[in-house]
Amino acid sequence: MGADPPIPIARPLLGDGEVAAAAAAIRSGWVSQGPKVAEFEARFAAAVGAPHACAVSSCTAALHLALRAVGVVPGDEVVTVSHSFIATANAVRYCGATPVFVDVEPGTFNMDPDTLEAAIGERTRAILCVHQMGMPCDLNRILPIARAHGLPVVEDAACAIGSEIQVDGVWGKIGQPHGDIACFSFHPRKVLTTGDGGMLTTANPEYDARFRLGRQHAMSVSDQQRHGAGEVIFEAYTELGFNYRMTDIQAAIGCVQLERLETIVAERRALAERYLDALASSIPELGLPLEPEWARSNWQSFCVRLPGGRPQKEVMQRMLDDGVATRRGIMCAHREPAYESEPWTCGPGTGGCGCGSGGCERLLNSETAQDRCIVLPLYPGMTDAEVRRVVESLYQSCLPV
Ligand SMILES: *Cc1c(COP(=O)(O)O)cnc(C)c1O
Repeated sequence: MGADPPIPIARPLLGDGEVAAAAAAIRSGWVSQGPKVAEFEARFAAAVGAPHACAVSSCTAALHLALRAVGVVPGDEVVTVSHSFIATANAVRYCGATPVFVDVEPGTFNMDPDTLEAAIGERTRAILCVHQMGMPCDLNRILPIARAHGLPVVEDAACAIGSEIQVDGVWGKIGQPHGDIACFSFHPRKVLTTGDGGMLTTANPEYDARFRLGRQHAMSVSDQQRHGAGEVIFEAYTELGFNYRMTDIQAAIGCVQLERLETIVAERRALAERYLDALASSIPELGLPLEPEWARSNWQSFCVRLPGGRPQKEVMQRMLDDGVATRRGIMCAHREPAYESEPWTCGPGTGGCGCGSGGCERLLNSETAQDRCIVLPLYPGMTDAEVRRVVESLYQSCLPV
């Protein structure tokens, strides 16, 4: 022992193709948002089956533009989950609106549709659901509730490129989108990466036009248009905008990454199968992630619930001592300092429960998922031997000392 190299939690798959594409973009002389961004958008739209795709600097920026596009303004409420990366709830606050948190289901780690009705009130302006860790959330139940209340649905699909869902009997890629807008991330921890980056997809051309304006300072003339114009053009700034542009260097890398999507997702699914087989037979009481029959995850993360009574941090430390990196379950925004002191976090009028500091009863599944689960390594190129090492290390680390 001791000779085995450490197993990381994740590892992006980048190769010579990406290096060459980035170099070509640099040599072209056009490095900011330009032709490569347009190409990446067209390829991305085709890959997920979306009518429109707009590239931005991150999924966080995408979520902000999406919520603005569907009309979220100060004083509004947006129903979402606390059990997500903090950017989900932060995007609501960027709009001056209040996130109203609902709980998740323990097996899928996704929004529990049964909790939605009670959280919707007069000030609710949108529903922001998350396909957590690449597992599609229950859109078959969320969308009808949203429609009944006349609410737009924004999908946080940061982790869900390549994931599939069966809606109304038809299989499709996440991002068509099934709701009004879907937002993707290209951070290195996600399934495809451009270093940093994001994408918005929609079927609504007006939303798409708003994204394009918003990402570029709401400037009426783009850099490219002005550069190519034969006459002098003065631009106008039509509303409050942002610099949320993706660069052509990033987009060039993204085009190559997209070509790898199918093989990466197939490999991740094979690795998840191996974990499911090996873990089901070896560790009693371990909670395995649940893939509903209407969903096919891309397995951006593989998250397990520890057997009762096994302390999370101790198991993680023992695995780290074995050279196996893990992460704790997905965070809960409402427990972070940036959130816990806000009057609306658990307050009345926000669908809150008024519970004390001992934990939020309404978000019990969310808090349990954060405290009792760990994420296991899963990345392209992971070998059978590495999967076995992770399983063996988890088995040993779950045994009482
Ligand atoms: C990673 C992530 C984000 C943020 O994506 P960035 O591209 O880093 O801004 C948002 N939501 C979820 C669920 C994520 O996992």
